[in-house]
Amino acid sequence: MSDSRGDDRTTKFLLSEDQIPRAWYNIAADLPIPPAPVLHPGTGQPIGPADLAPLFPMALIGQEVSTEREIEIPEPVREAYRLYRPSPLFRARRLEQVLDTPAHIYYKYEGGSPAGSHKPNTAIAQAFYNQQEGTKRIATETGAGQWGSALAFAGAMFNLEVKVYMVRASYDQKPYRRILMETYGAEVVASPSPTTNYGRGVLAEHPDSPGSLGMAISEAVEDAATRDDTKYSLGSVLNHVLIHQSVVGLEAIEQMAMAGEEPDLIIACAGGGSNFAGLAFPFLGLTFRGGRKYRVIAVEPEAAPSLTRGVYAYDFGDTGKMTPLVKMFTLGSDFIPEPIHAGGLRYHGMSPLVSLLKDHGDIEARAVHQGPAFAAAVAFARAEGILPAPESAHAIRVAMDEAIAAKASGEKKVILFNLSGHGHFDLAAYERYLSGSLEDYEYVPDEAALAGLPKVG
Ligand SMILES: *Cc1c(COP(=O)(O)O)cnc(C)c1O
Repeated sequence: MSDSRGDDRTTKFLLSEDQIPRAWYNIAADLPIPPAPVLHPGTGQPIGPADLAPLFPMALIGQEVSTEREIEIPEPVREAYRLYRPSPLFRARRLEQVLDTPAHIYYKYEGGSPAGSHKPNTAIAQAFYNQQEGTKRIATETGAGQWGSALAFAGAMFNLEVKVYMVRASYDQKPYRRILMETYGAEVVASPSPTTNYGRGVLAEHPDSPGSLGMAISEAVEDAATRDDTKYSLGSVLNHVLIHQSVVGLEAIEQMAMAGEEPDLIIACAGGGSNFAGLAFPFLGLTFRGGRKYRVIAVEPEAAPSLTRGVYAYDFGDTGKMTPLVKMFTLGSDFIPEPIHAGGLRYHGMSPLVSLLKDHGDIEARAVHQGPAFAAAVAFARAEGILPAPESAHAIRVAMDEAIAAKASGEKKVILFNLSGHGHFDLAAYERYLSGSLEDYEYVPDEAALAGLPKVG
């Protein structure tokens, strides 16, 4: 390949379909320190595969605890990936010009998938393994609807019924994601719902509850745990989800090589941590196996700043306190984030693997307000044409800040960020930003939620 510095004007770095990775990358093989065990909420003892069997197919449980570096991608999954993978890597030349920066800015674009985000990378895999093991129906939760639409799409690929518990606030405010899920054939109810014990309990106390991701997870887990034909599916946080998302970074490594450059800085937004890990972990694996170091930044919202303001402790993944306990950066499972538009980032916790690497000093974290994030997204749309998801806008903000800092210092650094999804269903949020009525929310620690953390060991 030619050197893309200088007058080479290549803008898209494209791989062919047979360059879709044949194996996912599992960072568990290369971690600098061992991960903390997952604990049973009742006994406080490490859980085993049998504890998870009511919720997940065995193949996914195996991946959850695997320490194999490479996990083969089954052919039917690669076949479905062909619908939208490999995803393009772009050099943001027009944005570089607008910012007048010596930095080179690259972005991996995951918004071209049928559901419009990186989430089908794991939804397809999860639907496949469930179908293989005889699951008829999958229950899940969704915030703004990105995960629900990815799983609804994947359910249609592999003939599974999908029931989605959609956070009430989004259900009421964002009908289009719901309609997309229904078009793919899923059943969608507003959470808290009258269809689970947990939901009925919340409604009895708070009939007008706007819901939260933590509550919707409790409902979906209860649904799966109480029905033989049904498993549960989670769109982020868990190790197997992060493994599936590694296709993003594995492709990006090849594409950066095509561009003839190495990223100095790798940036992605982080809600539960899956698109961040998807891009960053394959690069970090190179480092852990003796390669060069990269600066890696996870960007979270100021309204739910688990990595920058939370505590590193064992906590529940859900509000109903039904899930196993995982060690992670958390704001407390009772913490309900303010209604920012980046629904995918409104979560009290963070993936245990991302948390571990943050605690160990291998990655950095930064929190940004939604106002500056939308300002960056609008500048990006005007320069590059793509309208980013509000979640992705957080990554763009930091990528732009770093490019602006490079201008001040004259540094020729190479920035790579993940554009995790498009924002075509988020135009109401853009309208608010454009009309000046978008609010920023300061994080106020919920002392009760933090005091309520489970006492472990
Ligand atoms: C769900 C979502 C996120 C946040 O989830 P992660 O697991 O942290 O990646 C980010 N961007 C988009 C577009 C999403 O749909």
